[in-house]
Amino acid sequence: MTGFFSLSVRRFYPYWKVVLAVLLLLVGMVQWHQSEAVSLRGGTNPHITWYVKTTQKAVALTFDDGPWKSSTPKILHILTANHAVATFFVIGQQVLGDPQILRQAIRDKMEIGNHTYSHINLSSHSLFEDVTDLKKANQAIKNATGITPTLLRTPYGTYNGTVLKAAQIAHLHVVMWSWTEDTRDWSNPGVETIVSRVLSHIQPGDIVLFHDGGSNRQQTIEALPIILNDLRLRGYRFVTVSQLMKMQ
Ligand SMILES: [Zn+2]
Repeated sequence: MTGFFSLSVRRFYPYWKVVLAVLLLLVGMVQWHQSEAVSLRGGTNPHITWYVKTTQKAVALTFDDGPWKSSTPKILHILTANHAVATFFVIGQQVLGDPQILRQAIRDKMEIGNHTYSHINLSSHSLFEDVTDLKKANQAIKNATGITPTLLRTPYGTYNGTVLKAAQIAHLHVVMWSWTEDTRDWSNPGVETIVSRVLSHIQPGDIVLFHDGGSNRQQTIEALPIILNDLRLRGYRFVTVSQLMKMQ
């Protein structure tokens, strides 16, 4: 037996480099696969939240580009009728035109986040300009609601070191969205498409991206009750982004 074993080892010995190479390749493939799985859901920058790691069946619905007279009140009504809350990332200068919509949102227990004052691409401006814009939006939201936001969603989902620094100075945490939960509703792709983009990949801790402003959001308004009903039947709860972040 010993003789057979040592013979096998001797036979195998010339190929040890090949075997080692194959093993290293396998380990590398497993690690690559795992990092792919993470990157499909969101980035890894520790200063940005794309989703929350939780086992609790909760998701955060978010709405950008409001308040918008023809859609935000309808969306608030649908959410409250379904006992759901959400987070609205609002544009500061639009808040000035419709402060009463934000006050209603606060009464309905919604969370309000900062989406800049004038929907600028923060990545193409200086630190001073970014901070000035973010603080101006914070002030507009505070004047309307009495509440200073703590969350920022950057327009177009862009960011760089300057943007992250500006957010830190304005005491705002950057929140994006789960990469599988981008409805792209701004392009009016059809109610069914919006519904299926949310439902086909949803998982606990996801942050879903909708828009309540920019232009006519009738498709979003029609998709929302279908999404709320389906997810509730699957046992999901709807929470604000800040509530979701406490579940990790
Ligand atoms: Zn936007």
